[in-house]
Amino acid sequence: MNIPCLDINKQYLSIKAEILAKTEEVFDSNAFSGGPYVAAFEKDFAAFCESKFSLGCNNGTTALHLALLALGIKSGDEVILPANTFIATAWAISYVGAIPVFVDNDPNTWEIDVNQIEAKITSKTKAIIGVHLYGQPFDIDAVRSIAEKHQLFVVEDAAQAQGARYKGKPVGTFGDIGCFSFYPGKNLGAFGEAGGLTMQDESYAKHIMRLRNHGMEQRYYHEEIGYNYRMDGLQGAILSIKLKYLANWNSRRKEIAQKYLSQIVNPLITMQHQPVWSDSVFHLFVVTTPDRENFAAFLAKNGIQVGYHYPVPCHLQNAYKYLGHSTGDFPNAEYLAAHCVSLPMFAELTDEEVSHVIDIVNQYK
Ligand SMILES: *Cc1c(COP(=O)(O)O)cnc(C)c1O
Repeated sequence: MNIPCLDINKQYLSIKAEILAKTEEVFDSNAFSGGPYVAAFEKDFAAFCESKFSLGCNNGTTALHLALLALGIKSGDEVILPANTFIATAWAISYVGAIPVFVDNDPNTWEIDVNQIEAKITSKTKAIIGVHLYGQPFDIDAVRSIAEKHQLFVVEDAAQAQGARYKGKPVGTFGDIGCFSFYPGKNLGAFGEAGGLTMQDESYAKHIMRLRNHGMEQRYYHEEIGYNYRMDGLQGAILSIKLKYLANWNSRRKEIAQKYLSQIVNPLITMQHQPVWSDSVFHLFVVTTPDRENFAAFLAKNGIQVGYHYPVPCHLQNAYKYLGHSTGDFPNAEYLAAHCVSLPMFAELTDEEVSHVIDIVNQYK
């Protein structure tokens, strides 16, 4: 048996005819940049997220950038985020000239540690970006109450969490703005680069539509410095097709995760704590173990590929050296970075493959 950590080809093969027919339709209609297919996807995705507004853009990183621009975050401002996340969460803060202020991750849920946020708030703090890490919601109510008390914006980085729910409601609808990635490997993946945003406030929606399209309201009249962050028509059309299947794909991921959670009983393996209010979509199934190189080698010998998400926490990346952090600043994030292992997780895994992963993980000594 050879089980990859992620195989996106199986999903494509399952809907290939539908995708290719749509591709031809998009090409025939010349709707390449923005246009009707993107508008249709935005409507579909808003409905899926139970959000008033949804907008497409060209990737998840620019979605975060657009969100901070729309909220007026600027040079000299501070924005709080977890130390362990994909680096793009921090990039958006840097792109607007603001300063990323890291908070450690919770030792059990591995999400932003809500008990450590307030100590990081200064007169310059403008926003908190929470990340629904690995597809699991962070404690949004706790973050929102801190934000309300200190009059801060909340941005949800939901790049890994399309369809995840917090206390029964879809993520992306709690903060001022929700940001999504449709990178090919995400739960809802484009056939290329794509991203999106959700918001309940129409003024943010209107502003983001302008920002993503060169700051234009009217063609060739530029109201402010804008960006070319539009979504491709082709990606919009493909995402509309894939969105129809997403609930099923997410259910299958949850089924696999439940097997991992209940049947992996090896004391050397620690799993992400799932709070009762969390309805994760398991973008990744991450575990920690004391000696991960040894564990990964044992799995590889038994035909199982794994990944590390992510091997270096943001505050120790060379790109953020100027912030002056050192090892020991965020011990939980650092522990996670040094010990995390992502087990195979995608909807097309067979029951046999899942059982094989569980057997081998349980055999590891
Ligand atoms: C993937 C991801 C992003 C960035 O999305 P891209 O589409 O790759 O630009 C941002 N934040 C998190 C947490 C992600 O996983």
